[in-house]
Amino acid sequence: MTRHDHQLHHGESLKEAARERLTKEGEQWTDMRAAVFDALAGFERPASAYDIAEAVSNAQGRRVAANSVYRILDLFVSANLARRVESANAYVANQHPDCLHDCIFLICDNCGQTVHIDDDNLSGGVRKAAKTAGFSAPRPVIEVRGTCGDCETQ
Ligand SMILES: [Zn+2]
Ligand SMILES: [Zn+2]
Ligand SMILES: [Zn+2]
Repeated sequence: MTRHDHQLHHGESLKEAARERLTKEGEQWTDMRAAVFDALAGFERPASAYDIAEAVSNAQGRRVAANSVYRILDLFVSANLARRVESANAYVANQHPDCLHDCIFLICDNCGQTVHIDDDNLSGGVRKAAKTAGFSAPRPVIEVRGTCGDCETQ
């Protein structure tokens, strides 16, 4: 993918873009899926399936199993609505569900704040190197650990 200006969605606009994307995938935007997406998007840091199950349970006043949340998160990841932050073993809402990238995450070791950047030159280079080494369909996972600006200045 070449360089382009893509839109990062927030709030209602993010929810709308996510619904549109999932529907285009031929999947239904059910109440449960909407609730899971709401909870996921409400977290400021990567959230585990358990965190999200708890948030949905609290919001709905009934017990929601982490297993069913996990299945929905799986669907969200495959439909580009969410991304897995592997090194945090957690998920974030994808701010550009209508646009596919190998997202790069910068994760603060201190507070867990996660910054999302897209640099297709960087991830494209990793893809190319993997292909050269005989890897088919390489899927770069690029995560950088460090200290965020907020923690640095404290
Ligand atoms: Zn884009
Ligand atoms: Zn991205
Ligand atoms: Zn921090």
